[in-house]
Amino acid sequence: MDSNPILNAIDITMKKICLLLFVILNSNFSFAKEGMWFPQLLKELNESEMKSLGMQINAEDIFNVNKSSIKDAVVQFGGGCTGEVISDRGLLITNHHCGFSQIQSLSTIEKNYLQNGYWSTTDAEEIPCPGLTVTFVRDIIDVSKIVLKDINDEMTEENRTALIKSRADSIEKINSDKKSKKSFVRSFFAGNEYYLFITEVFKDIRFVGAPPQSIGNFGGETDNWVWPRHTGDFSLFRIYADKNNLAADYSKDNVPYKSLRSLEINISGIKENDFAMIYGFPGRTNEYATSSAIDIIMNQTDPNKVIIREKRLEIWKQDMRDNDTVRLKYAAKFRTLANYYKKWQGEAMGLKRFNAVAIKENYEMEMIGKSGGKIKPILDSIDLYNSQIKSLSFISDYYSESLYGIELVNLALKFVKLENYSKTDTISDSLLMTEVARLKIDLISFYKNYSAKTDKKICGAMLKISDQNIPASYQPSALIDINSESDILKYTDKLYSSFLIDSSKVFLWLNNYSKKSIRKIQKDPAYIFAKEVADITQRMSKPMSEINAKLNKLQRQYLAMLRSTDSSKKFYPDANSTLRIAYGKIQSVVPADGKYYNYFTTTDGILEKSNSINPEYSIPEKLATLIKNKDYGNYAVNGTVPVAFLASLHSTGGNSGSPVLNAKGQLIGINFDGLWEGIMTDLYYDEKYCRNISMDMHYFLFIVDKFGNANRLIQEMKIVSN
Ligand code: GLU
Repeated sequence: MDSNPILNAIDITMKKICLLLFVILNSNFSFAKEGMWFPQLLKELNESEMKSLGMQINAEDIFNVNKSSIKDAVVQFGGGCTGEVISDRGLLITNHHCGFSQIQSLSTIEKNYLQNGYWSTTDAEEIPCPGLTVTFVRDIIDVSKIVLKDINDEMTEENRTALIKSRADSIEKINSDKKSKKSFVRSFFAGNEYYLFITEVFKDIRFVGAPPQSIGNFGGETDNWVWPRHTGDFSLFRIYADKNNLAADYSKDNVPYKSLRSLEINISGIKENDFAMIYGFPGRTNEYATSSAIDIIMNQTDPNKVIIREKRLEIWKQDMRDNDTVRLKYAAKFRTLANYYKKWQGEAMGLKRFNAVAIKENYEMEMIGKSGGKIKPILDSIDLYNSQIKSLSFISDYYSESLYGIELVNLALKFVKLENYSKTDTISDSLLMTEVARLKIDLISFYKNYSAKTDKKICGAMLKISDQNIPASYQPSALIDINSESDILKYTDKLYSSFLIDSSKVFLWLNNYSKKSIRKIQKDPAYIFAKEVADITQRMSKPMSEINAKLNKLQRQYLAMLRSTDSSKKFYPDANSTLRIAYGKIQSVVPADGKYYNYFTTTDGILEKSNSINPEYSIPEKLATLIKNKDYGNYAVNGTVPVAFLASLHSTGGNSGSPVLNAKGQLIGINFDGLWEGIMTDLYYDEKYCRNISMDMHYFLFIVDKFGNANRLIQEMKIVSN
């Protein structure tokens, strides 16, 4: 044995490091919890596990229909994000990227709130957001018995769907009113269960404030989906109600809404392995997809869509760089496109890296065995129909990403209903004029964010990609005649000779509209092309929907059998934009061999990344000065301000803006992203790598208070520390 004391000391230190690494690595295995759970079933299914992980409140504190609970502070923001109420005056926080298109549409070159940020200093300065809604869930009721009564697998899928729809429609009707009560029935577990959601929708929502993009989107597309992260991804809105505190249409007399519950913000600081949960509206997952479905997504769908989007993004990026007006017009569209462009790359990579197909295949074999072979014919049929749908979905992806990526095609298709009305004798003039009026509203928002010059470049590139990849039998006739670059140029010129690209001509035409006016658009080259694109899509969708109907039925049967076969597993339904809870821990991660991501970042990192030459990393002078002077107000922890943190909370798109809560149900962060290395979680959850990224509330308060000087907002929040 070596008796050298120095070597012995090194040896002991090494052992300690190994032990520490063992603990760190194992903590990655032991705490993450897969699942986006029904809040109304937490008591039965999850409460004891949540408590064993550290939760200090009860399931009823999270979801309760008889008295106020945390659910009454959580809203669906617009169609696709989550937000939460953080004051008794209806103050609402969501992500900057969720408020992005609202902020963009309120901005002009002169008053550019995206670029410069905005902090209202009085209620009167809060800006109405027409069209924006927020939705509270008031109750969730299992209606499976009513919806599925006497329904069986002998029925055709068409009949089954129609019967379910008519039952769901009448349940929704009984549970809705003409005011703010709206209800909807959603399918769960691939159609094995149905739940009714009773909601309250608020329509008078006002923009309260947001940091400039250089904070709200710090790191831009380069940092999107990745860690370490330093984005102040938040924006503030307020819910207004009438004098009786009831949801109402916009009125200047409305007052801030007093919600049944608002969240306390806890700034005592977080530690690794602290319990955490996320409450919100995750959009879509497909966790029970079979190996053959995963194979198509990983090897065909994701890579193809990425290649096409890359081209569109390249063109937009260039034009946005060269022109301020185009930059403002395309800001939101660019972000939306870029977001999934990057996500799909990570998804395909993650599925491959972690052998998702093989893992699913092994699971399928295991389940075949456990079910005594009963699952086998179902899986064989799923594989068969997946192989049949593969080539059609290839074409359909090209259509959706390339031909429908041409904005002129979408613009032209807006007029199809008008043509149908104009050709139909029985359509009255007043119905016709209602359609014209509807169209005009739609067109105003379309043209506001449209550059025909940029779109023409997209068109050229998309025609080329489509010509090269879509089989001739599914090509629009114009593409069949295209044999060279100059053919593409000529045809693109022809398409953009359309009067549709000139909004003033279109409005003039609509202002004097009568049925025979339709002739003008019937001769229009863009309209003719777009209609052919739509016709082929229609032709393609027939066989696709036939196969999909078979796949849906099989998936329903597969999932039902899995649930009765796999007794070791607790099943949760796939995300479908309904209210869910996921829970786990604040947690660092070893994302790849030799890499370690600490669980938090701080304002120090903002200075490290800041770079005045690169617009993605240039920060306002004021922020740099505050950080350099350590002028942190009350929001420092260990001499710096925490900015973002990692946790093992199962989440997806739609969870953007969701509250991340501590063991007591207090707000510690706002979810805004997922970790690149585990971003295949919508299809295959790997607890070692799945992490969500949240903005820390310390950074939020620091920005509102010290950067935005919006003390009036800080005053109305309930900030606690324990
Ligand atoms: N990566 C997204 C963004 O910041 C949000 C996450 C999501 O869409 O799931 O734009």
